[in-house]
Amino acid sequence: IQTKQVFGLPFVDATPSQWYTHIKTILHERGKAFLVTANPELVLRALREPSYDAILRRATFITPDGIGVTAASKRMGAPLTATLPGIETARELLRTADALEKRVFLLGGRPEVMKSLIRQLSIRFPNIHFVGTFHGFGKTEEATQAITEADADLVLVALGAPKQEEWIASVYDHVDHGIFIGVGGAFDVWSG
Ligand code: UDP
Repeated sequence: IQTKQVFGLPFVDATPSQWYTHIKTILHERGKAFLVTANPELVLRALREPSYDAILRRATFITPDGIGVTAASKRMGAPLTATLPGIETARELLRTADALEKRVFLLGGRPEVMKSLIRQLSIRFPNIHFVGTFHGFGKTEEATQAITEADADLVLVALGAPKQEEWIASVYDHVDHGIFIGVGGAFDVWSG
């Protein structure tokens, strides 16, 4: 998949269909990836905070999340092909995980949101094995311990930026496979 430097970060430069095909193949092949879906707030944080910038540089892929990033890329003379919204990427990955009966780990959101999220996702994606479900207001140590034993194929983390990327970066080297993606407020959307 092609990338292009925007704001000094290597952004995925692809059509949605090229991107989904690429990422679904990684899930299919039991590969490993750290996805950052970068909205303008996240890009600004990276420009301001060297420690956050360093975490983003550990990502396997950074995708332009929101029209703000692609519009800015045009103005900067390095136009990105398309906006690749994180919530769409996460949904495509869940669809594929369902089709392939994959193992999915969820972390984040309020406790009551996590309860209804599990209910909703179990109905929509009946073939997914949920191998870890942690709301985002407990001790993250529990989730950290669990992820190393969960053998998860897909890990969705909804702690908001920068927490979600920090958590992923802290566990990523301790697992041998899985697609890790920070999904911001997606759990709130899907649980309703
Ligand atoms: N969240 C969480 N733990 C925290 C802080 C936030 O689980 O300590 C969750 C929150 O419930 C929400 C999600 O993180 O579902 C995203 O939060 P927000 O919308 O503030 O982040 P953004 O989408 O703007 O990155």
